[in-house]
Amino acid sequence: MSASSYAAAGQQIAVPPQRCPICRRALTGWGGYWRWVRAPPGEWPIWIRRGRCSACRRTHALLPDLLLAQRLDAVEVIGRGLALKVAGGLGLRPIAEQLGVPHTTIRSWWRRFRARAPTLVAGCAALAVRLTGASVQLAPDRERAALEALGVAWDRTRARFGGRVGGLWPFWSRISGGQALGTNTSPPWAGLAGAGWMGPSP
Ligand SMILES: [Zn+2]
Repeated sequence: MSASSYAAAGQQIAVPPQRCPICRRALTGWGGYWRWVRAPPGEWPIWIRRGRCSACRRTHALLPDLLLAQRLDAVEVIGRGLALKVAGGLGLRPIAEQLGVPHTTIRSWWRRFRARAPTLVAGCAALAVRLTGASVQLAPDRERAALEALGVAWDRTRARFGGRVGGLWPFWSRISGGQALGTNTSPPWAGLAGAGWMGPSP
């Protein structure tokens, strides 16, 4: 779902049943909150539902996979920016101009991505290996390896589950529980935790 169509649904957005990422019990509805998403050419307010676990009593934001936690920009835009930097070798300033986002914003993505790269490599490679049992060949450069491992995990997931897996960047958001660029040290990686897949967002 695009940012604009998600926004158009307002508070009527439907979320499929989700499980607690900590104890795996079913979550029940627990209100929600408004936040913004920037996805050129626009910026929209969107409603994020919350779910509460009756067992551990924690509440969780049920982020759609078009977002990452605590990032204003749609994951599609963030991913494109990182790929331009890693694969295209472009500087951050021209990438910021191309994407229509502030230079400071893209710099913060890049810094976080660099710091996060080893975790991203480990999470995506583990997921890829889980899917087929085959090893994953990666570049020595860790930022490049992080995107390569993601690409392999996505390819293997599509081979197993077909078209419903969706695009690369929403997939990145989903398998990391929205924490691909987070500071959380133990993200709910689907591949590492052996947990079930987080359900696709509406
Ligand atoms: Zn729980």
